[in-house]
Amino acid sequence: MAAASEITSDTPSLTDVDVCVVGAGPVGAALACRLARAGIKVAIVDRMALEPMEHPDFDGRAYAIAAGPRQLLEDAGVWEHLPLESCPIEEILVTDGRPGEPASSLFVEFTRQDASQPFGWMAEARGLRVALNKAMHHQANLTVLAPAEVKVERQADTVVIRLHDGRSFKASLVVAADGRKSRLRNEAGIPLTRLAYKQTAIVAAIAHEYPHDNAALEHFLPAGPFAQLPMAGTEEYPNLSAIVWSDKDGVAERFAALPDDQFAREIERRMGNSRLGKVTPVGRRWTYPLSAQYAQRYTATRLLLIGDAAHGIHPIAGQGLNLGFRDVIALSDILIKAHQRGEDYGSPALLARYQARCRPANMMMLAATDVLDRLFSNNNPLLRLTRDLGLAGVNRIPALRRAFVRHAMGV
Ligand SMILES: Cc1cc2nc3c(=O)[nH]c(=O)nc-3n(C[C@H](O)[C@H](O)[C@H](O)COP(=O)(O)OP(=O)(O)OC[C@H]3O[C@@H](n4cnc5c(N)ncnc54)[C@H](O)[C@@H]3O)c2cc1C
Repeated sequence: MAAASEITSDTPSLTDVDVCVVGAGPVGAALACRLARAGIKVAIVDRMALEPMEHPDFDGRAYAIAAGPRQLLEDAGVWEHLPLESCPIEEILVTDGRPGEPASSLFVEFTRQDASQPFGWMAEARGLRVALNKAMHHQANLTVLAPAEVKVERQADTVVIRLHDGRSFKASLVVAADGRKSRLRNEAGIPLTRLAYKQTAIVAAIAHEYPHDNAALEHFLPAGPFAQLPMAGTEEYPNLSAIVWSDKDGVAERFAALPDDQFAREIERRMGNSRLGKVTPVGRRWTYPLSAQYAQRYTATRLLLIGDAAHGIHPIAGQGLNLGFRDVIALSDILIKAHQRGEDYGSPALLARYQARCRPANMMMLAATDVLDRLFSNNNPLLRLTRDLGLAGVNRIPALRRAFVRHAMGV
Protein backbone atom coordinates (compact mmCIF):
# COMPACT_ATOMS: atom_id res chain seq x y z
CA MET A 1 0.00 0.00 0.00
CA ALA A 2 1.44 3.39 -1.00
CA ALA A 3 1.74 5.88 1.82
CA ALA A 4 -0.29 9.11 1.71
CA SER A 5 1.58 12.07 0.26
CA GLU A 6 2.23 15.15 2.40
CA ILE A 7 2.43 17.96 -0.12
CA THR A 8 4.93 20.72 0.42
CA SER A 9 5.49 23.86 -1.62
CA ASP A 10 8.09 22.16 -3.83
CA THR A 11 5.61 19.43 -4.90
CA PRO A 12 5.19 20.09 -8.63
CA SER A 13 1.47 19.47 -9.17
CA LEU A 14 -1.64 18.21 -7.50
CA THR A 15 -3.85 15.50 -8.95
CA ASP A 16 -7.62 15.79 -9.05
CA VAL A 17 -9.57 13.87 -6.41
CA ASP A 18 -13.13 12.63 -5.90
CA VAL A 19 -13.69 14.32 -2.54
CA CYS A 20 -11.89 17.22 -0.84
CA VAL A 21 -12.35 17.45 2.95
CA VAL A 22 -11.60 20.87 4.47
CA GLY A 23 -10.74 20.52 8.18
CA ALA A 24 -8.66 17.67 9.63
CA GLY A 25 -10.27 17.67 13.08
CA PRO A 26 -11.45 14.27 14.35
CA VAL A 27 -14.52 14.32 12.09
CA GLY A 28 -12.82 15.36 8.83
CA ALA A 29 -9.83 13.08 9.44
CA ALA A 30 -12.01 10.03 10.21
CA LEU A 31 -14.09 10.67 7.07
CA ALA A 32 -10.99 11.04 4.87
CA CYS A 33 -9.50 7.76 6.16
CA ARG A 34 -12.80 5.86 5.83
CA LEU A 35 -13.37 7.00 2.22
CA ALA A 36 -9.75 6.48 1.11
CA ARG A 37 -9.80 2.95 2.55
CA ALA A 38 -12.81 2.22 0.31
CA GLY A 39 -10.87 3.31 -2.79
CA ILE A 40 -12.24 6.88 -3.10
CA LYS A 41 -9.57 9.48 -3.96
CA VAL A 42 -9.47 12.08 -1.20
CA ALA A 43 -7.55 15.26 -0.37
CA ILE A 44 -7.73 16.65 3.18
CA VAL A 45 -6.75 20.24 3.99
CA ASP A 46 -6.15 21.88 7.37
CA ARG A 47 -4.90 25.37 8.04
CA MET A 48 -2.91 24.06 11.01
CA ALA A 49 0.09 21.73 10.88
CA LEU A 50 -1.17 18.40 12.19
CA GLU A 51 1.67 17.15 14.38
CA PRO A 52 1.65 20.09 16.85
CA MET A 53 -1.95 19.12 17.64
CA GLU A 54 -0.41 16.06 19.37
CA HIS A 55 0.32 17.80 22.67
CA PRO A 56 3.39 16.07 24.09
CA ASP A 57 2.11 16.02 27.70
CA PHE A 58 -1.00 14.57 29.21
CA ASP A 59 -3.43 17.46 28.92
CA GLY A 60 -6.53 16.17 30.70
CA ARG A 61 -8.95 16.34 27.77
CA ALA A 62 -10.74 13.21 26.70
CA TYR A 63 -13.69 12.06 24.58
CA ALA A 64 -16.40 9.55 25.39
CA ILE A 65 -16.67 7.52 22.19
CA ALA A 66 -19.86 5.49 21.76
CA ALA A 67 -20.02 1.99 20.25
CA GLY A 68 -21.15 3.00 16.71
CA PRO A 69 -18.41 5.66 16.37
CA ARG A 70 -15.81 3.21 17.76
CA GLN A 71 -16.71 0.78 14.95
CA LEU A 72 -16.27 3.66 12.47
CA LEU A 73 -12.78 4.38 13.86
CA GLU A 74 -11.94 0.68 13.47
CA ASP A 75 -13.23 0.64 9.87
CA ALA A 76 -11.24 3.81 9.14
CA GLY A 77 -8.01 2.19 10.43
CA VAL A 78 -7.71 4.74 13.27
CA TRP A 79 -8.55 2.80 16.44
CA GLU A 80 -5.56 0.42 16.05
CA HIS A 81 -3.20 3.42 16.27
CA LEU A 82 -4.47 4.73 19.66
CA PRO A 83 -1.25 4.96 21.70
CA LEU A 84 -2.89 4.50 25.10
CA GLU A 85 -5.50 2.16 26.41
CA SER A 86 -9.04 3.53 26.27
CA CYS A 87 -11.23 3.00 29.33
CA PRO A 88 -14.62 1.29 28.90
CA ILE A 89 -17.61 2.99 30.56
CA GLU A 90 -19.61 0.15 32.13
CA GLU A 91 -21.88 2.00 34.55
CA ILE A 92 -23.45 5.46 34.51
CA LEU A 93 -25.03 7.01 37.59
CA VAL A 94 -27.34 9.99 36.95
CA THR A 95 -28.18 12.06 40.03
CA ASP A 96 -29.53 15.47 40.97
CA GLY A 97 -28.52 17.73 43.86
CA ARG A 98 -26.85 20.90 45.15
CA PRO A 99 -23.14 21.59 45.77
CA GLY A 100 -21.97 20.31 49.16
CA GLU A 101 -25.05 18.13 49.65
CA PRO A 102 -25.58 14.39 49.09
CA ALA A 103 -27.41 13.60 45.82
CA SER A 104 -31.20 13.18 45.87
CA SER A 105 -32.31 9.65 46.79
CA LEU A 106 -34.14 9.45 43.43
CA PHE A 107 -31.69 8.61 40.64
CA VAL A 108 -31.15 6.46 37.56
CA GLU A 109 -28.33 3.97 37.26
CA PHE A 110 -27.37 2.33 33.96
CA THR A 111 -25.52 -0.89 34.69
CA ARG A 112 -23.75 -3.67 32.78
CA GLN A 113 -27.10 -5.50 32.58
CA ASP A 114 -28.56 -2.70 30.40
CA ALA A 115 -26.21 -3.32 27.47
CA SER A 116 -24.31 -6.20 25.90
CA GLN A 117 -21.13 -4.08 25.63
CA PRO A 118 -19.68 -0.96 27.33
CA PHE A 119 -21.70 2.28 26.91
CA GLY A 120 -18.64 3.94 25.43
CA TRP A 121 -14.87 4.25 25.72
CA MET A 122 -12.93 7.19 27.14
CA ALA A 123 -10.06 8.10 24.83
CA GLU A 124 -7.59 10.87 25.53
CA ALA A 125 -7.94 13.72 22.98
CA ARG A 126 -4.18 13.77 22.42
CA GLY A 127 -4.12 10.00 21.79
CA LEU A 128 -6.96 10.27 19.27
CA ARG A 129 -4.99 12.99 17.45
CA VAL A 130 -1.88 10.78 17.29
CA ALA A 131 -3.98 7.90 15.90
CA LEU A 132 -5.71 10.09 13.29
CA ASN A 133 -2.40 11.51 12.08
CA LYS A 134 -0.86 8.03 11.81
CA ALA A 135 -3.86 6.64 9.96
CA MET A 136 -3.94 9.57 7.51
CA HIS A 137 -0.23 9.30 6.74
CA HIS A 138 -0.39 5.54 6.14
CA GLN A 139 -3.42 5.65 3.88
CA ALA A 140 -3.28 5.19 0.11
CA ASN A 141 -5.64 7.38 -1.99
CA LEU A 142 -5.27 10.17 0.59
CA THR A 143 -3.38 13.44 0.07
CA VAL A 144 -2.76 15.50 3.22
CA LEU A 145 -2.36 19.25 2.70
CA ALA A 146 -1.41 20.87 6.00
CA PRO A 147 -0.75 23.56 6.92
CA ALA A 148 -2.59 25.05 3.94
CA GLU A 149 -5.31 27.59 3.26
CA VAL A 150 -7.56 27.01 0.26
CA LYS A 151 -10.01 28.95 -1.84
CA VAL A 152 -12.94 26.86 -2.99
CA GLU A 153 -14.74 27.66 -6.24
CA ARG A 154 -17.90 25.60 -6.53
CA GLN A 155 -19.46 25.18 -9.97
CA ALA A 156 -22.44 23.13 -11.17
CA ASP A 157 -20.26 20.29 -12.52
CA THR A 158 -17.03 20.48 -10.49
CA VAL A 159 -15.16 22.21 -7.65
CA VAL A 160 -11.81 23.93 -8.13
CA ILE A 161 -9.64 24.10 -4.99
CA ARG A 162 -6.87 26.69 -5.10
CA LEU A 163 -3.98 26.83 -2.66
CA HIS A 164 -2.33 30.10 -1.69
CA ASP A 165 0.89 29.04 -3.46
CA GLY A 166 -0.92 29.03 -6.81
CA ARG A 167 -1.43 25.29 -7.22
CA SER A 168 -4.92 23.91 -7.75
CA PHE A 169 -6.85 20.69 -8.20
CA LYS A 170 -10.44 19.62 -8.83
CA ALA A 171 -12.92 17.54 -6.85
CA SER A 172 -16.50 16.38 -7.41
CA LEU A 173 -17.48 17.23 -3.83
CA VAL A 174 -16.18 19.41 -0.99
CA VAL A 175 -16.94 18.47 2.61
CA ALA A 176 -16.77 21.30 5.16
CA ALA A 177 -15.39 19.76 8.36
CA ASP A 178 -13.91 23.07 9.48
CA GLY A 179 -15.55 23.28 12.90
CA ARG A 180 -18.00 25.62 14.62
CA LYS A 181 -16.84 28.77 12.87
CA SER A 182 -16.84 27.07 9.43
CA ARG A 183 -15.61 29.45 6.79
CA LEU A 184 -17.03 27.28 3.99
CA ARG A 185 -20.49 27.40 5.62
CA ASN A 186 -20.31 31.19 5.84
CA GLU A 187 -19.05 31.57 2.27
CA ALA A 188 -21.95 29.39 1.02
CA GLY A 189 -24.37 31.74 2.83
CA ILE A 190 -25.88 28.93 4.93
CA PRO A 191 -27.68 30.55 7.89
CA LEU A 192 -26.76 29.50 11.43
CA THR A 193 -28.96 29.56 14.54
CA ARG A 194 -27.19 29.91 17.89
CA LEU A 195 -28.44 29.27 21.44
CA ALA A 196 -26.34 30.72 24.26
CA TYR A 197 -26.28 28.93 27.61
CA LYS A 198 -24.48 31.53 29.74
CA GLN A 199 -22.47 28.57 31.00
CA THR A 200 -18.79 27.72 30.76
CA ALA A 201 -17.41 24.19 31.00
CA ILE A 202 -14.29 23.46 33.04
CA VAL A 203 -12.53 20.42 31.61
CA ALA A 204 -9.74 18.76 33.60
CA ALA A 205 -8.41 15.42 34.82
CA ILE A 206 -8.47 14.27 38.45
CA ALA A 207 -6.70 11.54 40.35
CA HIS A 208 -8.76 10.01 43.15
CA GLU A 209 -8.30 7.83 46.22
CA TYR A 210 -10.58 4.89 45.23
CA PRO A 211 -10.96 3.11 41.84
CA HIS A 212 -13.79 4.28 39.58
CA ASP A 213 -14.70 0.70 38.55
CA ASN A 214 -15.31 2.01 35.01
CA ALA A 215 -18.30 4.00 36.27
CA ALA A 216 -19.27 7.50 35.09
CA LEU A 217 -21.29 10.08 36.99
CA GLU A 218 -23.61 12.77 35.65
CA HIS A 219 -24.64 14.95 38.60
CA PHE A 220 -27.11 17.72 37.82
CA LEU A 221 -26.56 20.93 39.82
CA PRO A 222 -28.47 24.23 39.69
CA ALA A 223 -25.67 26.07 37.84
CA GLY A 224 -25.04 23.26 35.32
CA PRO A 225 -24.20 19.55 35.10
CA PHE A 226 -21.05 18.00 36.57
CA ALA A 227 -19.71 14.87 34.84
CA GLN A 228 -16.97 12.47 35.94
CA LEU A 229 -15.77 10.06 33.27
CA PRO A 230 -13.46 7.12 34.03
CA MET A 231 -10.06 7.04 32.36
CA ALA A 232 -7.38 4.37 32.12
CA GLY A 233 -4.91 4.92 34.97
CA THR A 234 -1.20 5.62 34.59
CA GLU A 235 1.71 4.48 36.72
CA GLU A 236 1.71 7.84 38.48
CA TYR A 237 -2.08 8.08 38.80
CA PRO A 238 -3.66 4.60 38.91
CA ASN A 239 -7.13 6.05 39.66
CA LEU A 240 -7.85 8.69 37.05
CA SER A 241 -10.98 10.40 35.67
CA ALA A 242 -11.86 13.29 33.42
CA ILE A 243 -14.34 15.93 34.61
CA VAL A 244 -16.59 18.25 32.61
CA TRP A 245 -18.04 20.76 35.07
CA SER A 246 -20.47 23.34 33.64
CA ASP A 247 -21.10 26.45 35.71
CA LYS A 248 -22.26 30.04 35.23
CA ASP A 249 -20.08 32.25 33.00
CA GLY A 250 -17.64 34.24 35.16
CA VAL A 251 -18.06 31.87 38.12
CA ALA A 252 -16.54 28.95 36.18
CA GLU A 253 -13.42 30.95 35.29
CA ARG A 254 -12.96 31.83 38.97
CA PHE A 255 -13.24 28.17 40.00
CA ALA A 256 -10.82 27.14 37.24
CA ALA A 257 -8.22 29.58 38.60
CA LEU A 258 -8.35 28.26 42.21
CA PRO A 259 -5.24 26.72 43.81
CA ASP A 260 -5.18 22.90 43.60
CA ASP A 261 -6.44 22.19 47.14
CA GLN A 262 -9.43 24.56 46.84
CA PHE A 263 -10.21 23.37 43.32
CA ALA A 264 -10.18 19.75 44.62
CA ARG A 265 -12.53 20.68 47.48
CA GLU A 266 -15.00 22.32 45.07
CA ILE A 267 -14.92 19.20 42.88
CA GLU A 268 -15.62 16.93 45.87
CA ARG A 269 -18.57 19.19 46.82
CA ARG A 270 -20.04 18.61 43.33
CA MET A 271 -19.90 14.81 43.19
CA GLY A 272 -23.02 14.20 45.31
CA ASN A 273 -21.30 11.20 46.92
CA SER A 274 -17.87 10.21 48.29
CA ARG A 275 -17.44 7.10 46.11
CA LEU A 276 -14.03 8.23 44.75
CA GLY A 277 -12.65 9.57 48.07
CA LYS A 278 -10.08 12.35 48.08
CA VAL A 279 -9.54 14.12 44.77
CA THR A 280 -6.31 15.64 43.33
CA PRO A 281 -6.35 17.79 40.15
CA VAL A 282 -3.94 16.59 37.43
CA GLY A 283 -2.56 18.54 34.47
CA ARG A 284 -4.05 21.62 32.84
CA ARG A 285 -7.53 23.04 33.29
CA TRP A 286 -9.46 24.17 30.21
CA THR A 287 -12.51 26.42 30.02
CA TYR A 288 -15.00 26.47 27.14
CA PRO A 289 -17.94 28.90 26.86
CA LEU A 290 -20.97 26.77 25.99
CA SER A 291 -23.49 27.31 23.22
CA ALA A 292 -25.51 25.20 20.85
CA GLN A 293 -25.80 26.00 17.17
CA TYR A 294 -27.20 24.47 14.02
CA ALA A 295 -26.93 25.16 10.31
CA GLN A 296 -30.29 25.72 8.58
CA ARG A 297 -29.21 23.28 5.89
CA TYR A 298 -26.29 20.93 5.42
CA THR A 299 -25.82 21.36 1.67
CA ALA A 300 -25.08 23.85 -1.11
CA THR A 301 -23.85 23.25 -4.69
CA ARG A 302 -21.25 20.43 -4.40
CA LEU A 303 -20.78 21.20 -0.70
CA LEU A 304 -21.73 19.26 2.45
CA LEU A 305 -21.40 20.30 6.10
CA ILE A 306 -20.31 17.70 8.64
CA GLY A 307 -19.48 17.58 12.37
CA ASP A 308 -19.30 20.85 14.30
CA ALA A 309 -19.58 22.82 11.02
CA ALA A 310 -23.17 21.51 10.85
CA HIS A 311 -24.11 21.34 14.55
CA GLY A 312 -22.75 22.08 18.01
CA ILE A 313 -24.51 20.89 21.16
CA HIS A 314 -24.27 21.24 24.94
CA PRO A 315 -21.72 18.73 26.31
CA ILE A 316 -24.30 17.60 28.91
CA ALA A 317 -24.46 14.12 27.35
CA GLY A 318 -20.89 14.01 25.93
CA GLN A 319 -22.35 13.50 22.46
CA GLY A 320 -20.89 16.35 20.35
CA LEU A 321 -18.13 14.40 18.66
CA ASN A 322 -20.26 11.27 18.52
CA LEU A 323 -22.83 13.18 16.47
CA GLY A 324 -20.06 14.22 14.07
CA PHE A 325 -18.87 10.61 13.82
CA ARG A 326 -22.46 9.56 13.06
CA ASP A 327 -22.47 12.05 10.17
CA VAL A 328 -19.29 10.34 8.96
CA ILE A 329 -20.91 6.89 9.19
CA ALA A 330 -23.93 8.06 7.14
CA LEU A 331 -21.92 10.03 4.59
CA SER A 332 -19.29 7.35 4.00
CA ASP A 333 -22.06 4.79 3.51
CA ILE A 334 -23.69 7.03 0.87
CA LEU A 335 -20.40 7.90 -0.88
CA ILE A 336 -19.09 4.31 -0.89
CA LYS A 337 -22.35 3.18 -2.55
CA ALA A 338 -21.97 6.00 -5.12
CA HIS A 339 -18.38 4.83 -5.73
CA GLN A 340 -19.51 1.25 -6.33
CA ARG A 341 -22.24 2.41 -8.74
CA GLY A 342 -20.04 4.96 -10.52
CA GLU A 343 -22.37 7.85 -9.51
CA ASP A 344 -21.45 11.55 -9.25
CA TYR A 345 -20.27 12.23 -5.63
CA GLY A 346 -21.61 15.78 -5.75
CA SER A 347 -25.03 15.27 -7.35
CA PRO A 348 -27.98 17.14 -5.79
CA ALA A 349 -29.73 13.78 -5.12
CA LEU A 350 -26.75 12.48 -3.14
CA LEU A 351 -26.48 15.71 -1.13
CA ALA A 352 -30.21 15.58 -0.34
CA ARG A 353 -29.88 11.94 0.80
CA TYR A 354 -27.15 12.91 3.28
CA GLN A 355 -29.14 15.81 4.73
CA ALA A 356 -32.30 13.67 5.06
CA ARG A 357 -30.35 10.97 6.87
CA CYS A 358 -28.49 13.16 9.36
CA ARG A 359 -30.21 16.47 10.04
CA PRO A 360 -33.46 15.27 11.72
CA ALA A 361 -31.59 12.97 14.14
CA ASN A 362 -29.04 15.70 14.94
CA MET A 363 -31.81 18.23 15.59
CA MET A 364 -33.46 15.73 17.97
CA MET A 365 -30.21 15.34 19.91
CA LEU A 366 -29.71 19.11 20.02
CA ALA A 367 -33.26 19.57 21.34
CA ALA A 368 -32.87 16.76 23.88
CA THR A 369 -29.61 18.16 25.32
CA ASP A 370 -31.12 21.66 25.35
CA VAL A 371 -34.23 20.50 27.26
CA LEU A 372 -32.11 18.44 29.67
CA ASP A 373 -29.96 21.46 30.47
CA ARG A 374 -32.95 23.78 30.94
CA LEU A 375 -34.82 21.21 33.05
CA PHE A 376 -31.88 20.38 35.32
CA SER A 377 -29.82 23.58 35.54
CA ASN A 378 -32.07 25.42 37.98
CA ASN A 379 -33.24 25.37 41.59
CA ASN A 380 -37.02 25.48 41.02
CA PRO A 381 -38.53 23.10 43.67
CA LEU A 382 -41.36 21.94 41.38
CA LEU A 383 -38.94 21.15 38.54
CA ARG A 384 -36.62 19.42 41.02
CA LEU A 385 -39.42 17.12 42.12
CA THR A 386 -40.55 16.45 38.53
CA ARG A 387 -37.06 15.58 37.30
CA ASP A 388 -36.22 13.45 40.34
CA LEU A 389 -39.44 11.48 39.82
CA GLY A 390 -38.51 11.22 36.12
CA LEU A 391 -35.07 9.82 36.96
CA ALA A 392 -36.53 7.35 39.45
CA GLY A 393 -39.21 6.37 36.88
CA VAL A 394 -36.60 5.60 34.21
CA ASN A 395 -34.60 3.68 36.81
CA ARG A 396 -37.57 1.39 37.54
CA ILE A 397 -38.30 0.47 33.91
CA PRO A 398 -35.51 -1.71 32.46
CA ALA A 399 -36.88 -1.51 28.87
CA LEU A 400 -36.81 2.30 29.01
CA ARG A 401 -33.27 2.26 30.45
CA ARG A 402 -32.12 -0.04 27.64
CA ALA A 403 -33.78 2.20 25.00
CA PHE A 404 -31.87 5.23 26.37
CA VAL A 405 -28.65 3.26 26.31
CA ARG A 406 -29.09 2.01 22.73
CA HIS A 407 -29.70 5.55 21.53
CA ALA A 408 -26.69 7.00 23.35
CA MET A 409 -24.41 4.22 22.09
CA GLY A 410 -25.47 4.76 18.49
CA VAL A 411 -26.02 1.04 17.85
C1 LIG B 1 -16.21 21.24 27.02
C2 LIG B 1 -16.45 20.29 25.91
C3 LIG B 1 -16.42 18.91 26.16
C4 LIG B 1 -16.70 18.01 25.12
N1 LIG B 1 -16.72 16.67 25.42
C5 LIG B 1 -17.08 15.79 24.46
C6 LIG B 1 -17.19 14.38 24.73
O1 LIG B 1 -16.93 13.87 25.83
N2 LIG B 1 -17.60 13.55 23.74
C7 LIG B 1 -17.92 14.05 22.50
O2 LIG B 1 -18.37 13.27 21.64
N3 LIG B 1 -17.75 15.36 22.18
C8 LIG B 1 -17.36 16.26 23.13
N4 LIG B 1 -17.25 17.59 22.81
C9 LIG B 1 -17.47 18.06 21.44
C10 LIG B 1 -16.25 17.88 20.54
O3 LIG B 1 -15.11 18.51 21.07
C11 LIG B 1 -16.54 18.46 19.13
O4 LIG B 1 -17.81 18.02 18.71
C12 LIG B 1 -15.48 17.97 18.10
O5 LIG B 1 -14.19 18.52 18.35
C13 LIG B 1 -15.88 18.38 16.67
O6 LIG B 1 -14.95 17.87 15.73
P1 LIG B 1 -14.83 18.49 14.26
O7 LIG B 1 -13.77 17.67 13.59
O8 LIG B 1 -16.18 18.60 13.63
O9 LIG B 1 -14.35 20.00 14.46
P2 LIG B 1 -13.01 20.57 15.11
O10 LIG B 1 -12.48 19.63 16.14
O11 LIG B 1 -13.33 21.97 15.50
O12 LIG B 1 -11.97 20.58 13.88
C14 LIG B 1 -12.04 21.53 12.84
C15 LIG B 1 -10.72 21.51 12.06
O13 LIG B 1 -10.84 22.39 10.95
C16 LIG B 1 -9.67 23.18 10.82
N5 LIG B 1 -10.07 24.41 10.14
C17 LIG B 1 -10.86 25.40 10.60
N6 LIG B 1 -11.02 26.36 9.67
C18 LIG B 1 -10.31 25.98 8.58
C19 LIG B 1 -10.08 26.53 7.30
N7 LIG B 1 -10.65 27.71 6.94
N8 LIG B 1 -9.30 25.86 6.43
C20 LIG B 1 -8.74 24.68 6.79
N9 LIG B 1 -8.92 24.09 7.99
C21 LIG B 1 -9.70 24.73 8.87
C22 LIG B 1 -9.19 23.37 12.26
O14 LIG B 1 -7.78 23.66 12.28
C23 LIG B 1 -9.52 22.01 12.87
O15 LIG B 1 -8.45 21.08 12.73
C24 LIG B 1 -16.96 18.49 23.81
C25 LIG B 1 -16.93 19.87 23.55
C26 LIG B 1 -16.69 20.78 24.59
C27 LIG B 1 -16.70 22.25 24.30
